[in-house]
Amino acid sequence: MKAHDALYIDGAWRPAAGHDTIEVVNPADEQVVGRVPAGTVEDVDAAVRAARAALPAWAATPPAGRAALIGALRDVLVARKDEIAETVTAELGSPLPLSQAVHAGVPVMVAGSYAELAATYAFEEKVGNSTVHHEPVGVVGAITPWNYPLHQIVAKVAPALAAGCTVVLKPAEDTPLTAQLFAEAVAEAGIPAGVFNLVTGLGPVAGQALAEHAGVDLVSFTGSTAVGRKIGAIAGAAVKRVALELGGKSANVILPGADLARAVGVGVANVMTNSGQTCSAWTRMLVHTSRYEEAVELAAAAAAKYADRIGPVVNAKQQRRVLGYIEKGVAEGARLVAGGPEAPRAQGYYVAPTVFADVTPEMTVAQEEIFGPVLTIIRYEDEDDALRIANGTVYGLAGAVWAADDAEAVAFARSLDTGQVDINGGRFNPLAPFGGYKQSGVGRELGAHGLSEYLQTKSLQF
Ligand code: NAP
Ligand code: MG
Repeated sequence: MKAHDALYIDGAWRPAAGHDTIEVVNPADEQVVGRVPAGTVEDVDAAVRAARAALPAWAATPPAGRAALIGALRDVLVARKDEIAETVTAELGSPLPLSQAVHAGVPVMVAGSYAELAATYAFEEKVGNSTVHHEPVGVVGAITPWNYPLHQIVAKVAPALAAGCTVVLKPAEDTPLTAQLFAEAVAEAGIPAGVFNLVTGLGPVAGQALAEHAGVDLVSFTGSTAVGRKIGAIAGAAVKRVALELGGKSANVILPGADLARAVGVGVANVMTNSGQTCSAWTRMLVHTSRYEEAVELAAAAAAKYADRIGPVVNAKQQRRVLGYIEKGVAEGARLVAGGPEAPRAQGYYVAPTVFADVTPEMTVAQEEIFGPVLTIIRYEDEDDALRIANGTVYGLAGAVWAADDAEAVAFARSLDTGQVDINGGRFNPLAPFGGYKQSGVGRELGAHGLSEYLQTKSLQF
């Protein structure tokens, strides 16, 4: 992997207007692995102009033509999957098998799904005496986080391109090398100049300039609720479309009849994977009082097995933040049964897989998104209590319900204020809409619902 000392604008790698750079650090060994330009307002402006210029021709390209190019992009992602996995490992620190299976593998699935959807989606429908055309919204400003660097990019760019939109991407400052690889893949796939543009840079500079740019019709943001609020305000003031994929504090609800060992095992894996840096992670495990101690023992044992298996968190700041939350949990009276607030290694930004028992719903560790390998286990007395606790945060992104059978789990899941629920260990579905209730966001990603975010309707009456 080689860092480009340039931005990808209008189909070419071009020097940035300024000279500032961003150092990319490997969080596993704290070594600098590359440097990329820190783009500025001028660079964002050049990229948005290129995207605008490319819009009419791309929007007019028949869906089958767009589908073929997204399919070609998918094929490049397949051909370069090892390089992608190594790059994600170098800048995010995730263990290589996780990078291969998830960080490189899932974007292939998602790009493939949009190659197919672009070819099959009903971009035109009849409603009574009207023909309704689903037209691209226009130029998309995409702002992405570092936790699933390529997935977050593909989950925006693939549907935007399928819809006929053009894109300017501002990726997270911690993981710009994966974004550069993606830009190389776009070029290799033969996607026309200006359809996709990349400006690496800092959030408050390049990200903010992109959200504010008058030439951007839709801002699609994934990241923290704090920044999402600002993006929403900027978009609202300019009356432009906005999609926000924000934080979560999801509940893993284990009803009394569930297979406890499986529910706890899958639940712990869900939280520890990617060192807890998953917005949809089930960081609150809710267990009936009759099986509480058994669940705590199972969870502590399961978490201990992750001690040598998880990677570091993304950077030193995130490590301090997560360790600070663990200290807060101890101070508020939660019982540590695995891990703790000491950094487990002298080098690298590691956090020990941590489990808190005797967590009450109002504790900070049960309310705020920690974004690290920290699981909280909360006791409930009956189903009403479980529901109150599960719905008792400002978030509503995901969750899980385990019960004696699917019907019982579904009945409970229907009362959850959340956008996605896994029933008795249901598998990830790249076509299912993903997104939040409440402060977890606005809009949906993935599948046909994700595609429709990038479309607007025009009705013709006859
Ligand atoms: P973040 O600070 O909100 O950053 C996300 C993106 O926004 C980055 O590209 C960032 O640039 C940019 N940004 C920061 N300040 C900005 C501003 N004032 N204007 C425009 N853009 C700005 O989030 P993070 O700390 O990197 O990521 C962790 C958070 O993201 C967690 O809260 C997590 O839940 C959330 N997340 C949610 C989802 C989801 O799908 N719902 C997925 C992943 C992560 P820099 O990199 O330069 O800061
Ligand atoms: Mg940030």
